Amino acid sequence: MICPPLHIGEFQIYWLNGGRFRLDGGTMFGAVPRILWEKRCPPATDNTLPFSNDVLLIKTTQHALIVDTGLGNKLTEKQRTIFQLYSPWSIVEDLAKIGLSREDIDYVLLTHCDFDHAGGIVMHNTQGEEELSFPRATHIVQKKEWEDVENPCLRAQSTYWPENFSCLKKTGQLTVIDGNHEVFPGIRLRLTGGHTRGHQVIEICSEGETAIHLGDLLPTHCHSNPLWIMAYDNFPLKVIDLKEQYLKEYQKKNSWFTFYHDPTVKACTLNLRGYPDHTWPLASK
Ligand SMILES: [Zn+2]
Repeated sequence: MICPPLHIGEFQIYWLNGGRFRLDGGTMFGAVPRILWEKRCPPATDNTLPFSNDVLLIKTTQHALIVDTGLGNKLTEKQRTIFQLYSPWSIVEDLAKIGLSREDIDYVLLTHCDFDHAGGIVMHNTQGEEELSFPRATHIVQKKEWEDVENPCLRAQSTYWPENFSCLKKTGQLTVIDGNHEVFPGIRLRLTGGHTRGHQVIEICSEGETAIHLGDLLPTHCHSNPLWIMAYDNFPLKVIDLKEQYLKEYQKKNSWFTFYHDPTVKACTLNLRGYPDHTWPLASK
């Protein structure tokens, strides 16, 4: 079952299952002591917590865009075990439930290129061959991010996997941008860095309503405190600054904040104290 869409003016936002896995609770909350985060997110006995990799589908009257691509269907048995994959990537099936196919996607907006966001750029077809999951789509990534994909540092080598980009380099469907960029009116990319050097976020505006997708700067609604950041962040002080700035800016606009990794809450608004207010799909506070 997929979550009902959130309407932002004339746009609709859906969340598609890009695979669900379990990660160590400590890594998801960095330096925050477990005694604090476990009250909001009780871990299993092995200290892990469940996380989604929810691909956002944005439907406008003319276009279909997706934000990030999930884990994909290329994980090895060993990788499935390490990441405790408990629900496999089902983007193609989820698109069909909305009456779309993977050929209908016009744009793939990549917040960054870690495997949990870029794993579904390239998929295995029924013959086990690699092909673009969204064969007609223009894939948009920041220049700094792409430079790091092509020349990853030692740490990035474990998260930027070459097989996730192989076909993309050959097909010419990659657009590399440098800085802020309007895809078309209502869809704007903003370069942030922080989580990775070339991390970008997506602003979605229609008919006076706004949603902001902060990618891995705000992975779940439990990360709304600017100091609650992940151990996976490459530039932690910058992430804290960015969160303060973006949360304030979009809270003032009464914007929705949408999530990629949250297993329960798909979007929320924030109250003046910075805590989740209205949530989607849950109606209660
Ligand atoms: Zn992530």
